[in-house]
Amino acid sequence: MARVYNFSAGPSMLPEAVLTKAAAEMLDYEGSGQSVMEMSHRSKVYQSIIDKTEALLREIMNIPENYKVLFLQGGASSQFAMVPMNLMTGSGKADYVITGQWAKKAYKEAARYGQANVVASSEDKTFSYIPKLDKSTFTPDADYFHICMNNTIYGTVYHELPDTGDVPLVADISSCVLSRPIDVSKFGVLYAGAQKNMAPSGVTVVIIREDLIGKAMDITPTMFNYQTHADNGSMFNTPPCYTIYVMKLVLEWIKEEIGGLDKMQELNEKKAALLYDFLDNSKLFKGTVVPEDRSLMNIPFVTGNEELDAKFVKEATAAGFVNLKGHRSVGGMRASIYNAMPLEGVEKLVAFMQKFEEENA
Ligand SMILES: *Cc1c(COP(=O)(O)O)cnc(C)c1O
Repeated sequence: MARVYNFSAGPSMLPEAVLTKAAAEMLDYEGSGQSVMEMSHRSKVYQSIIDKTEALLREIMNIPENYKVLFLQGGASSQFAMVPMNLMTGSGKADYVITGQWAKKAYKEAARYGQANVVASSEDKTFSYIPKLDKSTFTPDADYFHICMNNTIYGTVYHELPDTGDVPLVADISSCVLSRPIDVSKFGVLYAGAQKNMAPSGVTVVIIREDLIGKAMDITPTMFNYQTHADNGSMFNTPPCYTIYVMKLVLEWIKEEIGGLDKMQELNEKKAALLYDFLDNSKLFKGTVVPEDRSLMNIPFVTGNEELDAKFVKEATAAGFVNLKGHRSVGGMRASIYNAMPLEGVEKLVAFMQKFEEENA
């Protein structure tokens, strides 16, 4: 069996230990005589899986008691509508920072339901930085303030959170969830699709402060109301059972193999530093993001020559480094090095880049 180093932005790599465990349990989960894929979601055995997943997430992320954890479907993209439908019901206003395509999509969706304001944007420079925020431009009576914490396509991340005072901060953390510790108490709502750093695609995790639940617009579909899922333990309808189970395995891996999020951060910083240091010293490749806003998870880079970029991607693919082609809006390459990418994968990529540079400089 030959496994490649997969630098996909999502769906992305899963820890090999997780895949091995899932395979071993495929036909008979813990003596139940069934695969998790086949179980009733109302069964005791499945209830213990979803309960354990939530308990592990709460423990690993240190989620306070007054927050609900919801396991939903529809991807992070559905949250672009769910957030305004549930929260934009006081003043009917919300602030958005536009730091990339996902942030923009979230803003556009919110603008359909209320007064969505753009407080800042970095579109002028292809989203290669996080805009400096001026609190005096924030809407004081906004129902919430929305950011996309890690910008998957452009490779930027907020190293400092905006100070929104009493206005609840809402963050899309799809591509940085579980990559390092995060102070959940600073947020009203956190949401993340699973397929970057938690599980295969299919489940979206929402972490929401309890007092923000129960204020949805009348037009909100039952399935889009946070209350529906909070009241039913994410079991109002059939949840994405198998994906939640794989998430449990990933959380066990973070807790037992890695040793928690502080350790995860150390490892992620080490991996990212390897690649950034190489880029900063390379005569051929360069990063596209301002150094102070660089992401630990998604690292776009270019040679400055489209033909050479294409040659690099082709040769890298042949050598077993796959999905390195950059997003069409940035061009060049992007290495997504989520939690599951081993240090060795980044070391080997850097060695490959070095060799390519020597051959092509
Ligand atoms: C991938 C991604 C999304 C979209 O997620 P879906 O689950 O496909 O809807 C949204 N936001 C960010 C930051 C992402 O990385």
